[in-house]
Amino acid sequence: MYGDTTRRDALIGMGAAAGLAMLPGAATLAQGAGDRKLGYAIVGLGSYATRQIMPAFAQCRNARIAALVSGTPEKLARYGAEYGVPATHHYNYQTFERLADNRDVDIVYVVLPVAMHAEYSIRASKAGKHVMCEKPMAVSSAECQSMIDAAKAAGKKLMIGYRSRFQPHNVAAIDLCRKQVVGPTRMIRTAHGFSIQPDQWRLDRKMSGGGSMMDIGIYSLQAARYLSGEEPVEVMATESTDRRDPRFATVEDRVDFTLRFPSGVLASCISSYSSPHNEARVIGTDGYIELDPATPYQGQRLRVRVKGETTEPAIDTSGPSQFAAQLDHLAQCILTNRTPLVPGEEGLRDIRIIEAVYRSMNEGRRVALA
Ligand code: NAD
Repeated sequence: MYGDTTRRDALIGMGAAAGLAMLPGAATLAQGAGDRKLGYAIVGLGSYATRQIMPAFAQCRNARIAALVSGTPEKLARYGAEYGVPATHHYNYQTFERLADNRDVDIVYVVLPVAMHAEYSIRASKAGKHVMCEKPMAVSSAECQSMIDAAKAAGKKLMIGYRSRFQPHNVAAIDLCRKQVVGPTRMIRTAHGFSIQPDQWRLDRKMSGGGSMMDIGIYSLQAARYLSGEEPVEVMATESTDRRDPRFATVEDRVDFTLRFPSGVLASCISSYSSPHNEARVIGTDGYIELDPATPYQGQRLRVRVKGETTEPAIDTSGPSQFAAQLDHLAQCILTNRTPLVPGEEGLRDIRIIEAVYRSMNEGRRVALA
């Protein structure tokens, strides 16, 4: 029985070990990569780049900041000074192609509004650089495919910034699901949302490609896919948007969508720009595995309830942050010539499903996924 000490200790032990060490191939990648640090050029010095990504390089073993790209000279001067990046390694959107001649730059990290992802990822591939691109990958599946094609043509790698795949609680939850510690999965419920501030590019469809579904609902979609370990075959979606709210003149607010997986598992997912949510629960025949909060920048919690007893497995968070681990992962994949855990094809899969979500909610019908 689950309350039995041996079983609980085994589970807690498993949780404790379930940090990055358990990421498929992570240990091998890190060993094979040695201590060489590859240089990243950061493109777009906005909120996410400057507050989460750039500070994380301090924890990296195989990655460093080598260059900065921005349209604002003051930002180049300020962050150049802060991170020790000399003026010779500062670029703007017009001089971007000169990155090709900078041997200190191995990887270009695109941290721009979504509508700019394809253009700058493709320009980076053509400049002979590997690419890390933020989520959502692009505004359409056609753009995603062009990004994949450009990276292939250049013989360079392309990875999408799905940081939660490198976050120890999420990695542990995936492992617990695969081990069926709460029995075979029957359903998944996941919700992601926040109340969005007005007047920003996320609320301009031309820049964002869509509303909450593209920006935050994609976390519900990702969680449903990585926790189930399956690819959905059908989607049903409903929208609720107050079009009198000026924030939602061009993009949707709330989307409730259900994904049907081949095993029969159904995932009920919420995406919202008007209410706070951040959770994922996998319900099996004997209990549930819960991430709440699931995917914030920090402070994740994992609980397991089996046969009426709840435990909170100890997760080792002493290693690099999810941001640092993500940055190191691409560098290590390049140094050891492996395919990243979340390559361009993974970003494309999500955008294809999001397009089906939009079709379903606009046409009021179920949409089959190929
Ligand atoms: P932001 O608005 O803070 O930064 C965007 C940057 O792009 C700014 O520096 C801005 O000056 C620059 N920019 C260049 N051309 C622009 C234009 N025409 N319009 C607007 N900005 C322009 O946004 P952010 O929150 O840093 O998001 C940037 C990217 O990072 C997006 O793709 C977003 O989805 C992603 N993001 C990911 C996470 C995550 O947890 N993985 C979190 C936040 C943002």
